[in-house]
Amino acid sequence: MNNDPAFKQITDFIKETFNTNEFIPLHEPRFVGKEKDYVIDTIESTFVSSVGQFVIDFEKKIAEYTGAKYAVAAVNGTAALHIALILAGVKPDDEVITQPLTFVATANAITYTGAKHVFIDIDKDTLGLSPEKLNSWLQKNAVKKGDRTINKTTGRRIAAIVPMHTFGHPTRIDQIIEIGNKFNIPVVEDAAESLGSFYKSKHTGTFGKLGIFSFNGNKIITTGGGGMIVTDDEELAKTAKHITTTAKVPHPYEYFHDMLGYNYRLTNLAAALGVAQMEQLPVFIDKKRNLADQYREFFEQFDEITFVSEPKNSKSNYWLNAIIFKDKIQRDNFLEFSNKNKVMTRPAWVLMNKLPMYNNCQTDDISNATWIADRLVNIPSSVII
Ligand SMILES: *Cc1c(COP(=O)(O)O)cnc(C)c1O
Repeated sequence: MNNDPAFKQITDFIKETFNTNEFIPLHEPRFVGKEKDYVIDTIESTFVSSVGQFVIDFEKKIAEYTGAKYAVAAVNGTAALHIALILAGVKPDDEVITQPLTFVATANAITYTGAKHVFIDIDKDTLGLSPEKLNSWLQKNAVKKGDRTINKTTGRRIAAIVPMHTFGHPTRIDQIIEIGNKFNIPVVEDAAESLGSFYKSKHTGTFGKLGIFSFNGNKIITTGGGGMIVTDDEELAKTAKHITTTAKVPHPYEYFHDMLGYNYRLTNLAAALGVAQMEQLPVFIDKKRNLADQYREFFEQFDEITFVSEPKNSKSNYWLNAIIFKDKIQRDNFLEFSNKNKVMTRPAWVLMNKLPMYNNCQTDDISNATWIADRLVNIPSSVII
């Protein structure tokens, strides 16, 4: 099985496409713009730390690009999500709904607030939270008490819904927002992977009460490490800035902090990278969509492999390309073969409810997530310069 001729055909195609016989990583950053100039600027000005013009400019660029009214930089995407959940009103012993197929940061940020998880299934076409399954779980389990929505079984308040736009592909976010409104539960979008992805022409991350992005080294643009909170609510944006910068009340010399704050700010040094990367984002997206087109065309010849294309009504950034095998055995054999042959591939994340920290959490029917987790492989997706 390891000698499946299709496997070699695939790795050969990837080597040809990336034009190399060396090791091909899953996703590597590209610094082909003004990164060096801007980083040197911060050093020469001494403004490398938490204050500086690049932080302001980076926030402005993200707000402009996404159409969000406000953007607040944070030290990484996980911290951004932690704060976004707090600002959405999530408190210890509340419950937060999210999908089992996601990077661990989504679940961890929920834990940091002290809330408990409910894992609801994804759809096979979007790989994101399923509106139908969300709705049916809430119909069965949720009851409104005044302005609170309570889980009938546990007695806990259901405080937020956190959909994630998997690999950059937008989920059916408008329907999720509608369900959230119906049950009076705010939506916080984990758009960590979907900078540059639009659903019905509106940028992902801007549908919910708050949204977050990540600029980790493997994301579509990177600041080394970094994140961003976006919202249209001015008060929430102000509080986001305040709480991520130790909640210090501005004063010429006094150190007074009026609430529990966090040191979650993005450095000016990192933001300098961010500004330079944002200047290239449109080119990165064109090239990524072009690579996805090449992959799609190539994989059409295999009856037993499906290339994951952007869902209906959406424009994806194609951050990480993915293929789906007909069963787990073939998938595992391909993982083995490709990684041995210097083409980095990886399976989808182990589902959150299978991790030791989360294996006691509430789940509903998660058959789609299980099906995908058994069959999906991410394939090299770096921007080809
Ligand atoms: C990358 C990522 C995050 C945030 O990660 P950081 O490394 O903290 O920036 C959160 N959620 C998802 C789904 C991610 O892929």
